[in-house]
Amino acid sequence: MFCLSPMKTLRRMPWTLSLFLAITATAAAAPPSPESVLGFRPGADRQLADWTQIVDYFHRLDAASDRVQVEEVGRTTEDRPFLVAVITSEKNMARLEEIRRANLRLADPRGLSPEEAERLIAAGKVIVGVNHGIHSDEVAATQTAMETAYALASGDTPEIREILDSTVVVMIPSHNPDGTQRVTEWYRQTLGTPWEGHDPPFLYQKYTGHDNNRDWYMFTQRESRLTLKGLYDPWRPQIVHDLHQMGARAARLFAPPYVDPWEPNIDSALIAAVSALGTHVAARLTSEGHKGVAVDAIYDRRAPRRGWPRPSRCRSRTWSRASVTTPACVPGTSRTRGRAEPGACATSWTTSAPPPAPSSVTPPATASTGCARSTK
Ligand SMILES: [Zn+2]
Repeated sequence: MFCLSPMKTLRRMPWTLSLFLAITATAAAAPPSPESVLGFRPGADRQLADWTQIVDYFHRLDAASDRVQVEEVGRTTEDRPFLVAVITSEKNMARLEEIRRANLRLADPRGLSPEEAERLIAAGKVIVGVNHGIHSDEVAATQTAMETAYALASGDTPEIREILDSTVVVMIPSHNPDGTQRVTEWYRQTLGTPWEGHDPPFLYQKYTGHDNNRDWYMFTQRESRLTLKGLYDPWRPQIVHDLHQMGARAARLFAPPYVDPWEPNIDSALIAAVSALGTHVAARLTSEGHKGVAVDAIYDRRAPRRGWPRPSRCRSRTWSRASVTTPACVPGTSRTRGRAEPGACATSWTTSAPPPAPSSVTPPATASTGCARSTK
């Protein structure tokens, strides 16, 4: 089921293209930076923020910025807060409910006249869902969420302004807060020991562990249902950005075009639009010197892998999925998630800041495969 007409997608493409590329914020005074709250910048060596700290940061950002609304949409399996953060321009925020309802009307256009559709499209905004950290030991994603939110809340460049005016970003900072908390506690507990950086000896989602990303067709887990409640059902995003993390030697960002073949019921105009978006992202990031951006690789629409027959992997309520990988900023460790390459900061793709200086860390003989194991 798709929620956006191909023409709407194509018309808005110039706006949406820049979202993934232009988070180069000029910090304003008011919204607190993650570093000012945490005492370290997300991605710093051997530093991880736990879920309690991340929740605190997002509430502080909400209180300080008219661009940010943070809502606790429910409680997790282990009774932690599950957050959804909505980020857009101040002007859009003032008519947020109108934007949301217009988008829902377009998502189910039965009975909608062409004239009314055009009016809704003209007044509407692109809804961008960003899901972080469904796999909790792929730690970079959730750490990155704070930096991305801060960049959007504080940035004042023309590009940031255009992003904020053209889109509504609906962000889930952690899809699995229980795991975010417990993995961080395990990491801190094992720092300086032979177990530093190794996978924790427990499931980071109480019932399903790493297989929580197979729950998209059954919704058995509380976090899956909260994601529907907070993101997919109320917002029907046109773009979904799903942040995972690979090992240090794998590609870091997978962008469309996906590997053929596509599911035959997907409109060819949508395929073209998704491929154009991905190609633009890859071209810009690569031209800016970012390494590890892959297209036409691994993540395909082909049975039995990935999205075609298995809604467990394709977020069947949306039409686009980008799988992002970012390196862990935990050099000197073998996991949580993989030994980071020197200079490979978790937030490097979202900022224009230069990478940190290379360290003497030696990559492991066998790099973690990270999320790649979920292909099995
Ligand atoms: Zn993953």
